[in-house]
Amino acid sequence: MTRLWNEPAAFADEMIDGFVAANGRYVRRIPGGVARATTSPAGQVAVVVGGGSGHYPAFGGLVGPGLAHAAAMGNLFASPSTQQVYGAAKAADNGGGVFFTYGNYAGDVLNFDAAEQRLRDEGIDARTVTVTDDISSAPVAERRRRRGIAGDLTVFRAAAAAAERGDDLDGVARVAALANERTRSFGVAFTGCTLPGAEDPLFTVAEGRMAVGLGIHGEQGIDETDIPTADGLAEMLVAALLDPAEVPEGVASVSGARVVPVLNGLGSLKYEEMFVVYRRIAQLLEGAGIEIVDPHVGEYCTSFDMAGTSLTLYWLDDELAALWEHPVDTPAYRRGAVTATERVSASAIEAEATDEIPDADDSSRATAHTVRLAVTAIAETIDTHVDELGRLDAVAGDGDHGIGMQRGSHAARAAADAAADAGAGAATTLQRAADAWADRAGGTSGALWGVMLAAIARTLGDTGTPTAADVAAGVSAASRAVTDYGKAELGDKTLVDALVPFATTLAHGVDGGASLSAAWRSAAVAADRAATATADLLPRKGRARTHGEHAVGTPDPGAVSLALITAAVADVLASASEKGTPS
Ligand code: ADP
Ligand code: MG
Repeated sequence: MTRLWNEPAAFADEMIDGFVAANGRYVRRIPGGVARATTSPAGQVAVVVGGGSGHYPAFGGLVGPGLAHAAAMGNLFASPSTQQVYGAAKAADNGGGVFFTYGNYAGDVLNFDAAEQRLRDEGIDARTVTVTDDISSAPVAERRRRRGIAGDLTVFRAAAAAAERGDDLDGVARVAALANERTRSFGVAFTGCTLPGAEDPLFTVAEGRMAVGLGIHGEQGIDETDIPTADGLAEMLVAALLDPAEVPEGVASVSGARVVPVLNGLGSLKYEEMFVVYRRIAQLLEGAGIEIVDPHVGEYCTSFDMAGTSLTLYWLDDELAALWEHPVDTPAYRRGAVTATERVSASAIEAEATDEIPDADDSSRATAHTVRLAVTAIAETIDTHVDELGRLDAVAGDGDHGIGMQRGSHAARAAADAAADAGAGAATTLQRAADAWADRAGGTSGALWGVMLAAIARTLGDTGTPTAADVAAGVSAASRAVTDYGKAELGDKTLVDALVPFATTLAHGVDGGASLSAAWRSAAVAADRAATATADLLPRKGRARTHGEHAVGTPDPGAVSLALITAAVADVLASASEKGTPS
C-alpha cells in the first residue's frame, strides 16, 4: 500500500524533484530524468539507462561514477517517452557516443529505439543492449524475448566499467552483451503492489500463496505454490538457476565457477527475511563447488511495494571479474573508493539548456506556416472527437485514447507555434511538434505519433520548398518507422491498418502526377475506409489484445484517429494550394 502522495498524477515528477534535492552531490535534473552532477572525460562513451519509475534504486539511484551517466525516468511503471530518452542521452553525451541499456519491455524498446534513431540522424553514434535476465519469461531458446529484472545491475555495471576504462562504443556493447549472457535471474512474489492513489493493487497473489516467476509489473508468472520455508525458497531459486540449461554457455563447469549472487528485494520484504534465505543460498552454491564473489543482499530493482524477491547469478569470466572491481559511487549503490571528480559547471549546464533554432530560409518558413496550420487542425479534430475515441478504446483497451491524443496534439500545437514564431523552418517546426506530442501524450499511440511526425519532418528540410514527392516519401518513411518500432502488421487491428493504405495511396497519386493536395485527399479517403474496416478484425497487438473478442464489431481507435487526422490535414492542404502557398 502507498500512503503518501499529493496529486497521484504528479507523483513521479515530485519524486524525482525530491530525489535530486536529496542527492545533489551525485545527480542533477535534466529534461527526461537525471544525469551525473560530476564531469566525465571527453570522448568517454555515455552509458544511459532508464525505464518506468517505481523500481528504485533503478534507475535514477544508479547514476554516478562507475555506473550510469544518465537515467531516463518515465512515469510509474511506464516507459520514458522518446523525448525523455533523447534528453537524457543528449545531457550525458561526452562526444564518445551513447550506449543504451535497460530492461527488455516493448514500450521501452520502442522509445529507446526511436531516441537512438534520432541521435544517429544528428550524427551521434549509439548502441543498445537490452537486459534479458528473467528466466521465467521465455524459454532459453528464446532468450532475446526475456524481460529484464534485477540483472540490470550487473549489466549496467559491466557496461559502465568498460566505458570508464576507455572502451569505445563497440567495446562497451560487447562487454554488456557478454554480461547479459552471463546474468540469469528467477523471482517470486507474495503480494501485488498498489500505485499512489489507486484503490486496489495492480494485481494480487492469494493469501499464503506465492507467484513463481511473476514479472515486476505483474506480468504473468509460470506457477503458483504455497509459500515455502525460507530454506525451501532458497532451494527452489538455486535449483532453477543451476538447471544445466540456464548455466551460460561459456561456463566450463559449475564447480569452480566464480559467481556474484544478488538476492534482490522487490519493495516490502524485510532484509532480515532475505538474510535467512541467503544463508541457505550460500550453503547451496558452495555445495555445488561455486566460488561466491562479492554477494549482494538488498534492494536493487524493486516493484513499488511488492513483497517478493529474486535471485540473480552473475557468472564471471576473467574480464568481467576485473570489471567488477571497478569502483562505483551513486546515490543508492557504492562499491570501493572512487576518486573525487569535478562537478559540472553552471555555465556548461546553461549552454546545454539553450534551445537553438537551426537556420532556415523564407521558403521553408512559409512551409512551416502550413505545418503549423496542419497541427492546429489536428488538435481541433481530436477535440471534436475526443469522447468518441475514448469510448472506442474502452471497448477493448483502457479508454485513454481520446485524452492521450488530446494531450499530445495540444502539446504539438504549442510547440509548432513556438518554433514557427521563433523563425524555424518546416523540419524543425514539425520535429518540435513530434517531440512534444510523444512527450506529453503517453501511451503507445503517443510514442508512435512522435515517430511518424519525426519521420515526415526529416523529409521537409529547413531550406527550400519540399515537393509532393518529398512529402509522400516522408509519409512512407513514417509508415515503415511505425511497423519497425511497433512490430504490428497489417490485419493486427492497429493504426497500421489505416496508415499503410494512406501511405501507398498518397505515393501512388503523387507518382501519377497528382498535386499533393489532390493525392492527399484520395489517400485520406482510403484511410477512412480502412479504419472503418478494422471493425471486423481481431486485435493481435497492444493492450487491446487481452480482450480481443470484445473488439470485433468496433473499429480500432488508433486507426480511426489516424483517419480523422489525415482528413483534417487534407482540408489544410486544399486551402493552402488555393492560396498558392507551398503545398
Ligand atoms: P495505449 O494502448 O497505450 O493505451 P492509446 O490508447 O493511446 O495507447 O492507443 C491505442 C492505439 O494504439 C490502438 O488503437 C492501436 O491503433 C495503436 N497501437 C497499439 N499498439 C500498437 C502497435 N504495436 N503498433 C501500431 N499501433 C499500435
Ligand atoms: Mg489506450
